Amino acid sequence: MDLIHPRTVVDVAEALGTASQDGISVLVVGGRRHLDKGNPTDVDVELWTTQLDQVVAYEPDEMLVVVQSGMRCGALAELLAQHRQEWPADAPADATVGGVIASGSTSARRLRVGALRDTVVEMQLVTGDGRVVTSGARTVKNVTGYDVHRLMTGSLGTLGVITQVALKVRPMPERRRTLVAVGDVALATTIAAEVPLVAGVLGTHEGLEVRLEGWPDEIDELASAVTRLAGDTVALDEDSSFPRIPWWLWPDGGTVLEVAVVPSSLPGILAGSTNYAALAGVGIAWVGAASLGEIVAVRRRVEGTGGVAPAIRGPGGLGGTLPVPDVHRRLKASFDPANVLAPGRAWTPGTAAPRAPTSGG
Ligand SMILES: Cc1cc2nc3c(=O)[nH]c(=O)nc-3n(C[C@H](O)[C@H](O)[C@H](O)COP(=O)(O)OP(=O)(O)OC[C@H]3O[C@@H](n4cnc5c(N)ncnc54)[C@H](O)[C@@H]3O)c2cc1C
Repeated sequence: MDLIHPRTVVDVAEALGTASQDGISVLVVGGRRHLDKGNPTDVDVELWTTQLDQVVAYEPDEMLVVVQSGMRCGALAELLAQHRQEWPADAPADATVGGVIASGSTSARRLRVGALRDTVVEMQLVTGDGRVVTSGARTVKNVTGYDVHRLMTGSLGTLGVITQVALKVRPMPERRRTLVAVGDVALATTIAAEVPLVAGVLGTHEGLEVRLEGWPDEIDELASAVTRLAGDTVALDEDSSFPRIPWWLWPDGGTVLEVAVVPSSLPGILAGSTNYAALAGVGIAWVGAASLGEIVAVRRRVEGTGGVAPAIRGPGGLGGTLPVPDVHRRLKASFDPANVLAPGRAWTPGTAAPRAPTSGG
């Protein structure tokens, strides 16, 4: 496997232009934490973004930071912390900003901080055939044209290489507290629905973690509301991380499916499951599946609710058909006409849209 390790956007554009001309397939790689999502493909070359790691601009007063896409999330967090600000991805320190955006990841605190997609206000990217495109703007009033940066969020390296982003950042919360309680995902869903402004509620078969953030009085009030619903809770100290066990280490073993459904469906989908972590109120859960039979069973329940369950660790692909295959096909043809970027992941021209695996995952 060959390697492209660009230092500039021009390097990326030249590399993709050549790849397109010569029919060389390319996989974009950041921190390698989420590479299995979508149908994994064999490619000729990996393009690593990790040398595109510079801070382009940081204006704390404007709550705006512009970075290259290969910047590690840990390095960005350290920079922003100097001004008591954060980009609330809650991703592993070695994940890259571009990888988090391209894999459509969510914050564990999404109930409080919103969708990460909405923090991306401007993006520079290079299309599969080497065109450099800028979308969005650093100031809202200057925005014209298509929201290509929104399209790129969750595109899994199939449409282009994100090379630079401008991100809206937020002040760090004044206080944080995590409450640990006994309970299942049904209780987690109730807490998420009934406690306003809770930051995150993680339910696992081992119990609940409820994250509270805000002003001290606000946290006390929220904690009382959670305790009324959950019974006894244990409060962890201010510095405890959330989730306590990072989700990228868990569930363990086998394939991990990333279930996305309407939030109220989660308890039904996870009933009987003993290996999961669920973000209540958001409708996302990571479910460990040790066999093909388990993958199929989870997907059947998910599809019954209109949700999706791609594999994000191990084999299994996206699972199910793409919702609007014609749109995907046209976008792929326009952004990556020679089909060199992660071919087979999400869409391959001339084939049927990817389906759930029928054997071997
Ligand atoms: C079980 C599990 C659950 C997780 N849940 C979350 C979560 O909810 N929230 C969260 O923030 N993190 C989560 N993570 C961590 C997650 O892996 C990282 O947030 C992030 O998605 C990976 O970043 P990366 O740099 O490692 O990307 P990689 O794994 O290197 O790449 C991810 C995808 O993006 C593409 N890509 C990478 N960089 C670019 C680029 N510059 N331009 C275009 N395409 C690119 C790749 O081709 C690939 O398809 C989870 C991990 C696991 C294993």
